[in-house]
Amino acid sequence: MTALLNHFIDGRAREGASGRFGEIHNPATGKVAARVPLASSAEVADAVAAARAAFPAWAATTPLRRARILSKFKSLLEANADRLAALISAEHGKVHSDALGEVTRGIEVVEFACGAPHLLKGEVTENIGSNIDSHSLRQPLGVVAGITPFNFPAMVPLWMFPVALACGNTFVLKPSERDPSAPLFLAALLNEAGLPKGVFNLVNGDKEAVDAILHHPDIQAVSFVGSTPIARYIYATGSANGKRVQALGGAKNHMLVMPDADIDKAADALMGAAFGAAGERCMAISVAVAVGDAVADALVEKLAPRVRTLKIGAGTDPAAEMGPLVTQAHRDKVSSYVDLGVEEGAQLVVDGRKVRVDDPQLANGYYLGGSLFDRVTPEMRIYKEEIFGPVLGVVRVDSYREAVELINAHEYGNGTAIFTRDGDAARMFAHEIQVGMVGINVPIPVPMAFHSFGGWKNSLFGDHHMHGPEGIRFYTRLKTITSRWLTGIRTGADFVMPTMS
Ligand code: NAD
Repeated sequence: MTALLNHFIDGRAREGASGRFGEIHNPATGKVAARVPLASSAEVADAVAAARAAFPAWAATTPLRRARILSKFKSLLEANADRLAALISAEHGKVHSDALGEVTRGIEVVEFACGAPHLLKGEVTENIGSNIDSHSLRQPLGVVAGITPFNFPAMVPLWMFPVALACGNTFVLKPSERDPSAPLFLAALLNEAGLPKGVFNLVNGDKEAVDAILHHPDIQAVSFVGSTPIARYIYATGSANGKRVQALGGAKNHMLVMPDADIDKAADALMGAAFGAAGERCMAISVAVAVGDAVADALVEKLAPRVRTLKIGAGTDPAAEMGPLVTQAHRDKVSSYVDLGVEEGAQLVVDGRKVRVDDPQLANGYYLGGSLFDRVTPEMRIYKEEIFGPVLGVVRVDSYREAVELINAHEYGNGTAIFTRDGDAARMFAHEIQVGMVGINVPIPVPMAFHSFGGWKNSLFGDHHMHGPEGIRFYTRLKTITSRWLTGIRTGADFVMPTMS
């Protein structure tokens, strides 16, 4: 039987009332697994009203009490990590061990948010003038919203709401309509942790719900993660409606392999970074930039047999290295990029289009093998565009300088990495590369929760990265108070700009 999912509003599950539903497929089998209600703007307004009503009491709750609820939530996440990973895997398709990794990275943000009382401390200066002191403090914004993508259905919401709640805001989450069961489970665990009703709400939906969020006057800020065209739209529309917006977009991440790099280690790194989660990661490496033909030849020689023999299967199969893609439509889109690469003249070394999964139960799953292109050039669309699937391209360049210019000229600037044993090259690369997150012999440099995550150029619209100190800044407003307490001194009226003299 097909499960029917709900929204989560004002502390309880709420049936969808719009009459519109989306289908959720199990990508491993191709079968419809559940139906998700797609919220109307009236349902979004209900969630916002619940969050607005809950805000004054939550903002007045002491930071330590808020942190204690998050600490309980963290314990519940740890106790239920396996179940959460299974929900992710069943709707996204990624293998269980990878889903568990996603849960772990999400839990780390909750752990960070539990320390928010320390980060909310302001600054004080005594005696900025005679008998005058000044202090600054950070206050919550009010109701804030999060709109999240399919590829990390638990981790990306966890980048946002633990920090927002720790700062005293109330939250409305609109997760991806393709895999909403994991975020719904997060809502249930928040409830179990004792979060007061209305502090966290979840509405399922599509563009209608997103637009209702962007236009709702009671929402103060919007955090978004997804593709670049939608990120640009969210930023423009949310900002035009007076909201604070951080909108993280798509990516095309390059890994530069220098002639002195350990080629075996670089090949290991590329396998995981390009084909883990079937390439459906915003930090996946999709371009290997080899400096010199000798490096390129060696890399392709080492990669090709490994890409050809990737173990592909259902996310529940412990032997599988790569699961299916999220939907049939996405599978077909990625496959058509392989067609395009051939038409554009890149050399297809491994063709993942015709992969077969032996188990007859999985015959209709959305599987694709890994593909490897050599001699990809910068004017090709397979180089310029985000494919978001298990397709790795090798670009050959003659020098470090040419590689840096190539990466800096790309419209995206999410993540990048250099593989080298040369400290000078590594330092220079970190300094001059126009990308938000940089790895030195680290292929997927996703910052830890106490640092902040975010790209440059068309990979991020807005000023703040996510979680870490930037998350605290995004979800709070700075107020600076200047105070004078003087008894018995009268200074008279002064009409000039106040100065220290
Ligand atoms: P998406 O842009 O299609 O969807 C993201 C969210 O936007 C979803 O909640 C969806 O319902 C909503 N949405 C979709 N179309 C919309 C429209 N026309 N109007 C308003 N809202 C709309 O992205 P996706 O396919 O779910 O996720 C994959 C993308 O996310 C990739 O481009 C990937 O690089 C990116 N991503 C980026 C990061 C990052 O940190 N920069 C992290 C994860 C994923």
